[in-house]
Amino acid sequence: MSCLFCSIVSGDIPSNKVYEDELVYAFYDIDPQAPVHFLVIPKEHIPSAGAVTPENSAVVAHCFEVIAKVTKELGITDFRVVSNCGLQAGQSVPHLHFHVLAGRDMTWPPG
Ligand code: 5GP
Ligand code: ZN
Repeated sequence: MSCLFCSIVSGDIPSNKVYEDELVYAFYDIDPQAPVHFLVIPKEHIPSAGAVTPENSAVVAHCFEVIAKVTKELGITDFRVVSNCGLQAGQSVPHLHFHVLAGRDMTWPPG
């Protein structure tokens, strides 16, 4: 199965890594929407937030631990975490990912 983010995890497609461990990979977004914009993804292929189950949800909690750790290391206290699920919500890569955006004022509601 060809998946862009699986190819980034395997190193077949290069990326600007922020963090990596056995379960999770984090890297800067190629098209940043804020002064700081990185993505946190499970290494395991989970298609979206809509595909989280009792069997695979532990890695989602781990993603949030990584978000807390990496933002702290970067000195970021104020940030937004976004996961788009499905085409109407703006998901363009069908591998679960959490956008972490920081460094500017964020508006609400989101567009
Ligand atoms: P989505 O649109 O699914 O919520 O988020 C996908 C994100 O992946 C987008 O913000 C897009 O800029 C980013 N992206 C797409 N292709 C690449 C790539 O090859 N490298 C990196 N670093 N980011 C990518
Ligand atoms: Zn994948």
